[in-house]
Amino acid sequence: MTPTTVYQARKIITMNPMQPEATHVAVREGRVLAVGDLERMKAWGAFELDARFADKVLMPGLVEGHCHLKEGGMWVWPYLGWFDRRDPEGRTWPGLRSMDAVVARLREIDAQMTAQGKPASEPLIAWGFDPIYFGSERMTVEHLDRASATRPIVIAHANGHLMNVNRPMLREAGITRDTEIEGVVKFANGEPNGELQEPAAMFPVMRKIGNAGLLAPMDDAGMRGFASIACLQGVTTATDLVNKLTEDDCAVLERACSDDGFGVRILPAFQAFHGPLGAQEGAEHVRSLMKRNTDRLRYGLVKLMLDGSIQGFSARLRWPGYFNGADNGIWVTAPAQFEADFETYHRAGLTIHTHTNGDEASEVALDAIERVLARHPRPDHRHTLQHGQMIDAPMFRRMAALGLSVNLFANHLWYWGDQHWEMTMGPDRAQRLNACRSALDAGVPLAIHSDAPVTPLGPLFTAWCAVNRISPSGRVLGEAERLTVPQALHAITLGAAWTLKLDHEIGSIECGKRADFCVLDDDPLVLDPLRLKDARVWGTVLSGRVFEARGA
Ligand SMILES: [Zn+2]
Repeated sequence: MTPTTVYQARKIITMNPMQPEATHVAVREGRVLAVGDLERMKAWGAFELDARFADKVLMPGLVEGHCHLKEGGMWVWPYLGWFDRRDPEGRTWPGLRSMDAVVARLREIDAQMTAQGKPASEPLIAWGFDPIYFGSERMTVEHLDRASATRPIVIAHANGHLMNVNRPMLREAGITRDTEIEGVVKFANGEPNGELQEPAAMFPVMRKIGNAGLLAPMDDAGMRGFASIACLQGVTTATDLVNKLTEDDCAVLERACSDDGFGVRILPAFQAFHGPLGAQEGAEHVRSLMKRNTDRLRYGLVKLMLDGSIQGFSARLRWPGYFNGADNGIWVTAPAQFEADFETYHRAGLTIHTHTNGDEASEVALDAIERVLARHPRPDHRHTLQHGQMIDAPMFRRMAALGLSVNLFANHLWYWGDQHWEMTMGPDRAQRLNACRSALDAGVPLAIHSDAPVTPLGPLFTAWCAVNRISPSGRVLGEAERLTVPQALHAITLGAAWTLKLDHEIGSIECGKRADFCVLDDDPLVLDPLRLKDARVWGTVLSGRVFEARGA
């Protein structure tokens, strides 16, 4: 008979309402065999009792429904963010709090590169920068040329939608005053100022630097880095929400996910915008990849994208537009194209995740999806709007009627909450930023996410944001939209699993499901809700295999 292991714990939070708590869980063949007390385990016959979690709290392995594997791979480039941030090795990089500090750091890196014998033509690439924290001072070529007037410099913004480059890089990419691409920002005198918004404007640079940054292909080391961060954060299932899924990309994914030492289940989403394949070919490609699915690697998700980012002022907002008067944002995919592509992938039976940040984009998505569903009804499609940061109650009610789910970007409440209040949307709309409670009240299945590496991976932190809705300056953004702790824990387990169509396999600890656990030193249901983000993670269990977090 196959061996059975029974784990004893201080407490097991099952997320199964029929049996919310337990002390023992039996695991056989990577699945949960029984949950309850020791007596109930005995009914299944012989087992080995494993007491290593006797003083720990188990909950279902956490599910990150919107992140990018790049979280593990960005660290080959220097980090330029405003907030302190921990790398996969556990080392903390201090945040840079002035434009001068950013320029000084870049100068340092340029000098290091020169000392290492790297030619002046080799570009300096950095990430995590966000100009919005610097008030009205926008970064331009003037700043970056102070760091180096010879070496090309590329700064990817934290949101992944924008970049800044210096003059040598503009020259290299052939961007001049005559370039007429939407998103190439220019000075009043008509010269490009070095800010490039959204994929079309960034493309001439990306082509020259080999697609570095958020959109760069993953490698084996990056995959290992991601797994180590996931383990530190209790995550056992994660998406890679934009992946070109070339043969090379798939080889990297398949190598990692077939390695027993790799502790996270991955769901890559096919990048169905700005790719070389048309929608019909794209759908066939994804369908053929699904034949290669395993427990730990699931193809089948599709990612579409409508607008840009709110803090980058490239999201599409309804009236009254941006609070600071900025022009309305950019359609990354033209609405008519979106509807046609959505229809094709929908008819192929695939689950579509649509990026909409601004409320105009969310509304355009709903209009398009409503028409597609009227033409081609499909029960239980599980299509999901991703980010949906400005969706209000009427839109949530429409979503419920259309059977749509939402994955809200709760981490924004902390990372950009003050900027949304003061600059992008103003106090009224900032109150309903990532309106988690309105979603639940309307009956829309809810997940919440980090969009790592846009913000750090960490579902318990994300849950803390949704529960407290506090900004760095101490504002509470929309008290009425707060979740309770149990609601937030649901969103980072079963809620996210639902949006991935995996709620029958993961998201709770009950008989028949995968033995995926998040192993905690602290009980998130007992901690003060203000301390939820500080709950200590010991490690994870994925399909019955135990992973202890490095440096935990
Ligand atoms: Zn994303």
